Amino acid sequence: MSKPRKPRTQLVHLGRAPRKWLGAVSTPVFRASTILFPTVEDLHLAEARQYPGVSYGLHGLPTVTDFQDAMAALEGGDAALAVPSGLTATTLPLLACTQPGDHVLVTDAVYGPTRRFCDLHLKRLGVEVTYYDPLIGAGIAGLTRPNTRIVFVESPGSLTFEVQDVRAIADAAHARGATVVLDNSWATPLYFRAFDHGVDVSVHAATKYIGGHSDVLLGAIVCNKEAYAPLFRLWTDMGVTPSSDDCFLGLRGLRTLAVRLAQQQQSALRIAQWLRDRVEVAEVLYPALPDARGHDLWKRDFKGASGLFGVILRPAAPERLAAMLDGFDLFSMGYSWGGFESLIIPTVPERSRTASTWTTAGPCLRLAIGLEDPDDLIADLDEGFRRLNGLA
Ligand SMILES: *Cc1c(COP(=O)(O)O)cnc(C)c1O
Repeated sequence: MSKPRKPRTQLVHLGRAPRKWLGAVSTPVFRASTILFPTVEDLHLAEARQYPGVSYGLHGLPTVTDFQDAMAALEGGDAALAVPSGLTATTLPLLACTQPGDHVLVTDAVYGPTRRFCDLHLKRLGVEVTYYDPLIGAGIAGLTRPNTRIVFVESPGSLTFEVQDVRAIADAAHARGATVVLDNSWATPLYFRAFDHGVDVSVHAATKYIGGHSDVLLGAIVCNKEAYAPLFRLWTDMGVTPSSDDCFLGLRGLRTLAVRLAQQQQSALRIAQWLRDRVEVAEVLYPALPDARGHDLWKRDFKGASGLFGVILRPAAPERLAAMLDGFDLFSMGYSWGGFESLIIPTVPERSRTASTWTTAGPCLRLAIGLEDPDDLIADLDEGFRRLNGLA
């Protein structure tokens, strides 16, 4: 693409070059570990990292670089690195941009496994970790220190969906020279333009909406120029390149991301509204819903909402809740989200909070709305409430 284009057009055209591959519309899967060099001179160029082509399968196969280039262009970052999972995408920047004696600030509503990485590994390596209230906003300035290297944000937060004031947090972080890393998996580059809000590194569980079909584990790290060098160094030195097959699925997922997200948003909004009006429901945690927590910030900063949200039920007996969850016809229980199929799981957000309190009287659920007809999903939920109420 030679001209600036809108994101939906970009999704169709980024990361492919048919004329390079016999006219094939999509970049094929390249399976290669060994790359052969015709001359000693070429070998030496590869050694000096100046070889114009691919020099080893771990670095730069076209399906991988096309996925990286597509992610960087789509989000408006300077470069992107593909990694084998969303968890690699969240943890690699934490490792790449810190030294023993450094300090990092991490949102209290961070994805659980990212938190465990901080607690077990960053601390072991001598990096101090402070969790902060996701709603702290500009108040984060009070927690930054001269050695604060990273401020990690995730908005909306995992399980609780608090929307963060990313701009205010980024301004305070930058005043201390810290790098702002955002887990942007929920919104994707389509619905939150990370680099317009002061983010330096935007990471994605491409496993979720970008892959979109619950059949690939993949991550992407999109960054600005300053952050790229240490990220590229560690990515290369740890050998965490994903397979071409997985990047092929990442690219394929991008082609339909906009239409899937638009439909999932529309269905999720309708279902969230329906849930809000149920007597069994205490609160719906979906920032796109008018009157929901975080709605104003969401409206200010986001271009849309994906189909993942939380529900707090009024107190219910565990066996009735289990009957509700066990009996769904269309909603399945499983971790992860972002696929074409609807999912539901019970959650316990208060278990993993240390800097802020989260208390609810009743059980929490997380719903991922898929591409089914929302009428059918509502009917499935309605029957679930009958089981919750002991009526079925
Ligand atoms: C799932 C998830 C990840 C990790 O992605 P994987 O590909 O499963 O490792 C990271 N961040 C968030 C917010 C997630 O929900």
